[in-house]
Amino acid sequence: MPSHSLNKNQSRVIVVGAGIGGLTAGALLAHRGYSVLILDQALVPGGCASTFKRQGFTFDVGATQVAGLEPGGIHHRIFSELNIDLPEATPCDPACAVYLPGESTPINVWRDSAKWQEERQKQFPGSEPFWQLLATLFDASWEFQGRDPVLPPRNLWDLGQLIQAVRPSTLITAPFTLFTVGHALRLCGLGNDSRLRTFLDLQLKLYSQVSAEETALLYAATALSVSQLPQGLFHLQGSMQVLSDRLVESLERDGGKLLMRHTVEKINVENGKANAVVIKNQKTGETWTESADHVVANVTVQNLVELLGENAPSGYKQRVAKLPPASGAFVVYLGVDKSAIPADCPPHLQFLYDINGPIGENNSLFVSVSHEGDGRAPAGKATIIASSFVDFTPWWNTQDYEGLKQKFTQDAISKLSQYFYLKPETIIYVEAATPKTFAHFTGRESGIVGGIGQRIPTFGPFGFANRTPINNLWLVGDSTHPGEGTAGVSYSALTVVRQIQAQE
Ligand SMILES: Cc1cc2nc3c(=O)[nH]c(=O)nc-3n(C[C@H](O)[C@H](O)[C@H](O)COP(=O)(O)OP(=O)(O)OC[C@H]3O[C@@H](n4cnc5c(N)ncnc54)[C@H](O)[C@@H]3O)c2cc1C
Repeated sequence: MPSHSLNKNQSRVIVVGAGIGGLTAGALLAHRGYSVLILDQALVPGGCASTFKRQGFTFDVGATQVAGLEPGGIHHRIFSELNIDLPEATPCDPACAVYLPGESTPINVWRDSAKWQEERQKQFPGSEPFWQLLATLFDASWEFQGRDPVLPPRNLWDLGQLIQAVRPSTLITAPFTLFTVGHALRLCGLGNDSRLRTFLDLQLKLYSQVSAEETALLYAATALSVSQLPQGLFHLQGSMQVLSDRLVESLERDGGKLLMRHTVEKINVENGKANAVVIKNQKTGETWTESADHVVANVTVQNLVELLGENAPSGYKQRVAKLPPASGAFVVYLGVDKSAIPADCPPHLQFLYDINGPIGENNSLFVSVSHEGDGRAPAGKATIIASSFVDFTPWWNTQDYEGLKQKFTQDAISKLSQYFYLKPETIIYVEAATPKTFAHFTGRESGIVGGIGQRIPTFGPFGFANRTPINNLWLVGDSTHPGEGTAGVSYSALTVVRQIQAQE
C-alpha cells in the first residue's frame, strides 16, 4: 500500500469522462480509498488517447507519443503509486524530424542534448542565446512543477501548495511570466530570423495551439525541452490504448467502477455544491440521477459550462465564452504496405508545405509512423497517421461534409506523397477524422482538441483552475494547468486528487 492514508468514510466520487485525465484521477482516488464511479459516453476509454482497429491495423486516434515515462516523470510517478507496470515503450530519437518548405533535409530534434545543440547551431546560426534562455527557464520550471504546485490557486490550501513549491531558483522565471516567445526572440536579437520562427511556430502549435508570437515563454520552455534526456518522448508498444487499459485495471482492482456508453447529461448543484449527476445509459435509454460527494469533470471547460446549465456561475460562463476560438483537428489514418515508407523513417515528422501560408489546415502535417513489431500493423505493413489543426466551423456549416472530408483527405495524401511512396498499390486502408468525428467520439464541444491556447492570459497562473467556483466540483484535463498531452492531464488529475483529499 502507498503511504497515503485510506479515506475511512468512503466518500463517493463520480468522474465524468474516461480520458487519461479522468482515468488517472479515478484510479488514484480508488487507490487512496475513495468509492469511484467513472462514466464515459464512448465505447472505449481513453478519449483523445484511445485507438481503433481496422483490417488488421491499429490506429491511435489522436495522441501518438507520450512524455513523462522516465523515472520521476508524471506517468512513472503515478504508475508507481498505483503499483502497475509502465507500458513498454521506445524513446523517439529524433523526437521529430521537421521539414521546412522546399527543404529535403530535416531539422532533427535529437534526444541527446549535445546532439540537439549541435543540430540547432547548424540550422539556426546565432540562436544559441535564445536556447540557453529556454534551458535556464526550463530547469527552474521543471523543478518547480516536480514539487506539485497548485496553479492557479483558488484558496489558502492551494496557495500553500504553490508557495511550498517555490525555491530561490524558481524566482529566475518570475521576470519572464508575462513574456511570449516572440518577446524572447526579439530580446535575443532574433526577431527577424524567419526560419527559426517558422520552426518554432510549427513545433509550438503542436503543444500550445498558438504561434511563437503568442505562446507564453514559460510554457514554451517546457514544451520545447521535454524531448531531450533525461526527459524524452516515447512511442508505446502495442498502441496508446495500453495507457488507459492499465489505469482501468488499477481502478477496478481497487474497487472502482467504469461504465462505458453512459453519458452525463447534467451536473446537479445544491447550495453552491455539486452533489449529483444525471446519467443516460446509451444502450437502454434509461436516465437516472446518481448522487456524489465530489464530481470530477474530465471534459473541456466549454463542456463543463454546458453540463452545469443554469447552475453555471455567470462570471465563469462569461470567461469561457470570451476564450479565443479553439482548434479542431483533421486526421488521416493510412494502413500501407511497408514499401510506402522510406528507409530510416523517424517515428514522427512534421512538414510545412508553404512558408507563406498559415500553419494549420493542410498546410502543415504532423505525422506518426509505426515501426515493424510495434503492434500497430501486420508484418510487412505499417500505419501512417497525419494530423493538422483546422478551424472547426466549416465542418459544421458546410452543405457538403463528405465532399470537404474527401478534399482534405486527397490533399493530405498528395502532400504526404512528397515523402512517402503512396500509390494505389501501397495504400491498403484510408480513413479520416474531422472535428465532427472528434465531437462524436470524444464528446468534446464542436470537436475542439488540444486544450486552451497557452497565451499569456490563459496559461499557468492565469488559466482555468482545477478547483471550480462550485464546491466539490473539479475540472481535470487539457483545459487546465499544465495543458494538453497525456502527461499534462495526468498532472491535473494528481492535483485534483490532492485537493479532494485535503478537503476531507
Ligand atoms: C490529433 C491529436 C494529436 C495529439 N497528439 C498528442 C501526442 O502525440 N501526445 C500527447 O501527449 N497528446 C497528444 N494530443 C493531446 C492529447 O490526446 C489530449 O490532450 C489528452 O488525451 C486529453 O485528455 P483528457 O483526459 O483531458 O480528455 P479527453 O481525451 O477528451 O477525454 C474526455 C473523455 O470524456 C468523455 N466525455 C466527454 N463528455 C462526456 C459526458 N458528458 N459524459 C460522459 N463522458 C463524457 C469522452 O468520451 C472522453 O473519453 C493529441 C490530440 C489530438 C486531437
